[in-house]
Amino acid sequence: MIIAVDGPTASGKGTIAKALAAHLGLPHLDTGLLYRAVGRQVQLGGGDPNDPVAALAACEFADTLLDDDALRSEEAGGFASRVSVHPAVRRALYERQRAFALQPGGAVLDGRDIGTVIAPDADVKLFVTASVQERARRRWLEMTGREIAIPLAEIEQDIVRRDARDINRADAPLRAAPDALVIDTTSFGREQAIEAVIEAVRTRLGTA
Ligand code: C5P
Repeated sequence: MIIAVDGPTASGKGTIAKALAAHLGLPHLDTGLLYRAVGRQVQLGGGDPNDPVAALAACEFADTLLDDDALRSEEAGGFASRVSVHPAVRRALYERQRAFALQPGGAVLDGRDIGTVIAPDADVKLFVTASVQERARRRWLEMTGREIAIPLAEIEQDIVRRDARDINRADAPLRAAPDALVIDTTSFGREQAIEAVIEAVRTRLGTA
């Protein structure tokens, strides 16, 4: 069984995908981490993330990079969103994601194009979203908790920029698959969002 969880940054899709995977006993892949690793690899080599040649070369990153805490930063997110516009980068990361989705027993993957490109054959597709203001507020709370001082307005601007890049790129733009269940978590707390999604997946699978 393949479950695709897509949505914009800080929508709660990662938390939801992880909880769903634990609930169903399935392995989970955060595909954003792969793009973050490519962006970080470019950065470490002093390259330009807008340069498709440098970005493609960075797809050969060492797996140990996936454990690097620096991947979680806002800066890494910005680099990731720049390298992810290059079709060659998306192609280079395709097989790895597809193989994860096709493993025996199934998997939960979260990202931007799982339901549209990586696993259009997914059994359940979710598109998790929330208002820009709420996503900025969540990200701000998370960063404040990690003692990173950053104005809320700056986070909001960064989210708007990243959304625009993800939505407007030519290759695999961020959008809900036509058969995706759209879940707006703006007015949900963490547990409420998880419960709502588990319920929606049960209904979709006919196991309610
Ligand atoms: O989900 P996360 O914020 O970690 O993703 C970082 C960036 O990687 C996104 O802004 C997006 O540009 C890119 N990405 C993508 N396709 C995916 C996952 C992430 O283009 N499946």
